[in-house]
Amino acid sequence: MNNWRAWAGLLAISGLCVLWLLGSPRQEQEATLSETRLLMGTLVSITTWGHTEDESTRVMELAFAEIDRVEAMMSRFLPASAVTHLNNAPRGEKISALPTELLQLIRQGLEIGQMSKGAFDIGLAPLSDLWGFSREPPPEAPPPASDLQHWLTLRANLPDAAIEITPDHQLRLANAAVGLDLGGIAKGYAVDRAMETLLANGVTNALINAGGDMRLAGSKGDKPWHIGLRDPRQPNGVVAVMDIHKARAISTSGDYERFFLANGVRYHHILDPKTAAPARSGLISVTVQATDSMTADALSTSLFVLGEQEGLKLLQRFPDCEALLIREDGSMVQTSGFIATRSRSP
Ligand code: AMP
Ligand code: MG
Repeated sequence: MNNWRAWAGLLAISGLCVLWLLGSPRQEQEATLSETRLLMGTLVSITTWGHTEDESTRVMELAFAEIDRVEAMMSRFLPASAVTHLNNAPRGEKISALPTELLQLIRQGLEIGQMSKGAFDIGLAPLSDLWGFSREPPPEAPPPASDLQHWLTLRANLPDAAIEITPDHQLRLANAAVGLDLGGIAKGYAVDRAMETLLANGVTNALINAGGDMRLAGSKGDKPWHIGLRDPRQPNGVVAVMDIHKARAISTSGDYERFFLANGVRYHHILDPKTAAPARSGLISVTVQATDSMTADALSTSLFVLGEQEGLKLLQRFPDCEALLIREDGSMVQTSGFIATRSRSP
């Protein structure tokens, strides 16, 4: 394990238990196999039910390898990744020979970016670097206001296609305000790929939990998967329980995953490109249930930035996606198809 992964894993500790797989009776536990690894800056666990230990271990290995492969391509912290290659390229220059898979994810990220009117932005790496939530030790104070203002000025000069994919599959980053940060979407994508690997290899009852991104398939016998959603302000509290019977992806974005407090103000890792600061939309946690993890991941981040009104409008454009929002005062609102029972009213 390299250093980055080691410290990034530690950094993610505060956000590890956004979504929990809740305990089950002994008989079910006996059929349950689980393994956890440090990947993508967080603890990733894969749980299977009703498969033999040999089969489960072999296929989990393939699924973890798939996450590792996606991370090696898409992490902006790994020196050899395609994303690092892009971010290091001179601005305005066309970069070729990029993996098709990466271009495809970038296209999807750009599309959600447009639909969210720029609230979701996969080009925020320079701003993310200014805030430094991925640094070790974590920051204790916001960056100088002049640095943020400089970024906003550079950004105001961006053309519409800040990240441009040419018809011959080359990619160009317009100016120094833009760099790829796929942190709001790639974890979900990796979870999807890992789940596809499990399913393609015959493991049909499975749950993958990567910090705030989870995907489930099958069941635990005749029982649903039993998932807890963390109370944003009480690390051991659960605000809602989701009993999921069908294949589903669940993603949570919250202001309690990576944050610091300075002079009584909470600064967290989900940034509003309009202000260059952590998003203050009146929401402290957004959970999205969707068919795939990539969509759930991108939408939970988007809704967090947009806030309740605009966020729920955006959600309506995605069929089969549901959300549970927790407001600053602790009150909750959920769309009609969101699968959950509340374990308490905060
Ligand atoms: P998530 O935890 O899925 O909500 O994603 C947060 C991560 O996405 C951050 O750590 C950044 O890497 C990245 N990010 C931050 N702000 C945004 C934004 N407005 N749009 C897209 N990605 C973002
Ligand atoms: Mg996300």
